[in-house]
Amino acid sequence: MTEPISRVLIIGAGHAGGAVAAALRQFGWTGSITLLGEEAHPPYQRPPLSKGWLIGRADLSSVVLRPEAYYLEQLIDLRLNTHVQAIEPEQTRVITADGAVLSYDHLIIATGTRPRQLSIPGVELGGVSTLRTLDDAKRLRQALSPGKHLAIIGGGYIGLESAASARACGAEVTIIEREQRLLARVAHPLLSDFFQDIHESQGVKFVLNSELLSLSAGAEGQVGALMLRDGRTLRCDHVLVGIGAQANDELAQVAGIACDNGILVDEFARTSWPGVYAVGDVTRRPLAHYENHSIRLESVANALEQARQAAAHICGGPPPAAEVPWFWSDQYQYKLQIAGIPFGASQCILRGNLQGGKFALFHLANERLVAVEAVNSPADFLLGKMMIDRGAELDIVLLADTECSLKSAERGYAVV
Ligand code: FAD
Repeated sequence: MTEPISRVLIIGAGHAGGAVAAALRQFGWTGSITLLGEEAHPPYQRPPLSKGWLIGRADLSSVVLRPEAYYLEQLIDLRLNTHVQAIEPEQTRVITADGAVLSYDHLIIATGTRPRQLSIPGVELGGVSTLRTLDDAKRLRQALSPGKHLAIIGGGYIGLESAASARACGAEVTIIEREQRLLARVAHPLLSDFFQDIHESQGVKFVLNSELLSLSAGAEGQVGALMLRDGRTLRCDHVLVGIGAQANDELAQVAGIACDNGILVDEFARTSWPGVYAVGDVTRRPLAHYENHSIRLESVANALEQARQAAAHICGGPPPAAEVPWFWSDQYQYKLQIAGIPFGASQCILRGNLQGGKFALFHLANERLVAVEAVNSPADFLLGKMMIDRGAELDIVLLADTECSLKSAERGYAVV
């Protein structure tokens, strides 16, 4: 008698979903793989959407992770325009919006996040958008032309990258931020100030420490202005809302899988339900380099790492080595690369030239390196990431001195 074919079902054909399907084949999975995605496109990269895409330097063929032929060759059953409505883990099956019932042996949830929405009068007007999907990016690109005024709500990475792209297209840009500084949740104040200066020098205007009250219509049901709590009114032709993202974890919650601001997973990407895994932005995961502190990471590196964790576990292979989390952002000619997370950091040491736009901020907790934020300094980023990985302790005097090599600042480092 032949063995029944073992089935993997993946919900969400985004970066993590696409990567886990590919990793399964790479690690030798010979059973069936079905990849269900509600979007019309095969898995694609989102980072270019706020960068190259908006300035016309990317198209569908350059952003897709793999050509459609790949899925055919690898016998990955990619089903687009397919929304999963429910997971029934006791019956080991999922139900799609068009009524199909699909059974699995291993389920992987890779449903990502969705943008947070504003709840103020006027959000339903035309020209008010968020930026998560290729279709969002296509619409936003149309709105960016010389003389048009883009108002961006939120001074986070998506807002700042979109501002840089909009300026490259000749549009006027104003960023409205509730906090006192940009990137308040995710970057050191020195970095916030650095990027504010760069954007201002490129003509971007900022309204910080300010709250949006409402949006009002201009011509033909399109947004025409926004009102701030301090009574100011700003004219605009388009509003981009970039105020963060929330996990698409409702399917899991309803199915009884443990969630808490994301689906809770372990170092093998396993959820609380046997046979059910979750990967990517939708998860809250432990970080091996930070005493297994649990956090929801929204980054490509995280999606790829968890894809390998889940695929290795399903294939019965050795678990991949734990990685230091990392992230990047491109704005104008500046590449920001961040390694690690500054948990417990008590010191921040600047290395390099802030004014010259080439520097790195090293975050230390009791002399141990826990994070690096590097601008146009790829070597500091790479070496810093390796040092975080091995738990390096640094001498802060040598670290701040660019005449000394970064390696020489590591305690126990021997010059040979
Ligand atoms: P996603 O890529 O969002 O994929 C989830 C997919 O699941 C989506 O296609 C969604 O439609 C689908 N789905 C959801 N629910 C269902 C359902 N019920 N049924 C079927 N399908 C469903 N990261 C970086 O590291 N560096 C960057 O510079 C960077 N820039 C970014 C710029 C932008 C504009 C955006 C939006 C993100 C950026 N990111 C960046 C983040 C990065 O893109 C994400 O971390 C990554 O896409 C996460 O992959 P994911 O598969 O978890 O989620």
